[in-house]
Amino acid sequence: MKQFDQGHLQAIRQLPRFPEENAQQPCPACGKVTLRHYMHLVEGRSLPTAIIITWCGSCRRHHDSMVILPQGLTFTDPLGHLGRAERQCMGTGEMLELLDRMWSSGRAPQTFVIPPGPPRYPTGPPKDAREQEPGRRRRDAPVRRRKDR
Ligand SMILES: [Zn+2]
Repeated sequence: MKQFDQGHLQAIRQLPRFPEENAQQPCPACGKVTLRHYMHLVEGRSLPTAIIITWCGSCRRHHDSMVILPQGLTFTDPLGHLGRAERQCMGTGEMLELLDRMWSSGRAPQTFVIPPGPPRYPTGPPKDAREQEPGRRRRDAPVRRRKDR
């Protein structure tokens, strides 16, 4: 799978991070409305942290980012049934193929519940976890896959 380039990522950052009903969004690379998101929790963090994988179901570009979750946000995990080892062995391509198959049934396989009102973060304004922890990870280094619980 290919990565989104910097221009694409800049366009993606302008899109809502948690779109309503987790709807597909326009892909900045190929223009098709098949930009998808999948989020899973990262364990062992002092603040609630998740990895969001953003990918295009058409041109197969993808990008991983780590975020601090707004307070009260809850979400389902369609891959929550996988064991730690299973998830660790699974490459991004394989994981996204699995999610794509769920998506092709017509509905987003993952749902978010966002509390009403402006998002409140445990540590102030929204930032990528990487920006809050300088030196922990190079800005565009690939994120290591982890089991969420
Ligand atoms: Zn695309």
